Amino acid sequence: MLDSKILFRNLKAGEVIFQQGEEGNCAYIIEEGRVQISLEKNGDSFPVSIIGVGEIFGEMAILDGLARAGTARCLEDVRLCVVSSDQLYNRIHHSDSVVRLLVLLLIKRTRSMNTKLILSLQSQAADPEHDENANPGDGKSAINEVRFEIELHKAFQEREFRLHYQPIVDMKTSETLGFEALIRWNSPTLGPMRPDLFMKVAEESSLIVPLGRWIQEQAISDLKRIQDETGRPYFMSVNVSGRQFMDPAYLTNLEETRQKYGVLTSQVKLEITERIFIDGARAIEMVEECRKLGYQVSLDDFGTGYSSLSYLKNLKVDNLKIDQSFTRSVNSDQRSYALVRCMVQLCEDMGIESVAEGIETQEMATQMRDMGCQFAQGYFFARPQACDDLLKLLHAQLSSESSSKAA
Ligand code: C2E
Ligand code: CA
Ligand code: CA
Repeated sequence: MLDSKILFRNLKAGEVIFQQGEEGNCAYIIEEGRVQISLEKNGDSFPVSIIGVGEIFGEMAILDGLARAGTARCLEDVRLCVVSSDQLYNRIHHSDSVVRLLVLLLIKRTRSMNTKLILSLQSQAADPEHDENANPGDGKSAINEVRFEIELHKAFQEREFRLHYQPIVDMKTSETLGFEALIRWNSPTLGPMRPDLFMKVAEESSLIVPLGRWIQEQAISDLKRIQDETGRPYFMSVNVSGRQFMDPAYLTNLEETRQKYGVLTSQVKLEITERIFIDGARAIEMVEECRKLGYQVSLDDFGTGYSSLSYLKNLKVDNLKIDQSFTRSVNSDQRSYALVRCMVQLCEDMGIESVAEGIETQEMATQMRDMGCQFAQGYFFARPQACDDLLKLLHAQLSSESSSKAA
């Protein structure tokens, strides 16, 4: 009987059961405890799953003859039932050809999912200030999204998120008038993650409401700190996702937070994208309610959606943010130039402020200013940075301002 060959192994928490790349000659079924499987790449370890009692792992290497696809480590004391390759081979190769084919196909698919997961984790780990064009959804299966969502919830509980602030300047004077708050997550296990990617996952989950509130409170409290330390009434732009904006308690919470820190409604700008109008009339009412209270509303990523212009017909906003996909090639491409000029002109005609995003060079800044664009942000002026660094920058700006006035 095959089962008479079954062995058991007892291991302590933290022990490695097998390493990625090793040859495997057995699989394991968990009798007691939990095991973590992680993928190793360039010396980093990316946890991909935690498995518990009754689950099998390590079977892929022995079935397809390749090296172990990941590393297995005991999360607690575990007892494992060891299933030898002979036992598995016997069972699979004695099954009919359809079952055999199915098993082998599933193995192939799981391996390719793991490879894609490594690639997607690597691109997420890239500097979030770069690589704006990569598609965050690439290579992600539903199961990976669920795992990622769990990581996000954990990160929120462990207070791993930070905010960075990027100055928004007056194009005529280069004076800093306010900042955009941009979230950062440097995960201890996954490395620096791209905000567009993880915020998209947060928006699809219930996390967006508490996370959005945290962002709002952190940004407003830092605005108060900056104002106190510089004596200047700067503004703070906060990105608001659709689901967060449509939360019934959104405005009450915003008002409570603003009053708690004693800043004016005119110092808080809400950056929304046209995606929120999927919610129809209610979203337009919300924008009106916010503006009635004195909050400024910015339409972000203008021009990138399907119907940017049609929203402008029914919706009053205070400013348009011209997306960097247009400004990027304003100096090199005649069509981009024409489009950007059109957008700036549109703002002027509608009495809306224009803000150019992604200004990286002096040439771009000059071009945008000559077109009549009023405000800008981009690496040419300043990168997004932590509040302490921003304060140093502002102190330096203010002192050079006052010394040039004195001269
Ligand atoms: P966004 O709102 O369009 O933010 C502007 C993005 O452009 C930021 O990317 C910023 O770091 C980047 N950027 C600024 N200047 C330059 C430049 O000169 N060149 C280039 N190439 N990029 C520049 P980031 O921080 O990676 O954020 C990406 C997106 O993630 C944001 O796009 C926004 O949609 C979302 N996001 C970031 N923070 C938050 C947040 O607190 N809440 C919500 N809901 N979404 C956020
Ligand atoms: Ca924005
Ligand atoms: Ca934008």
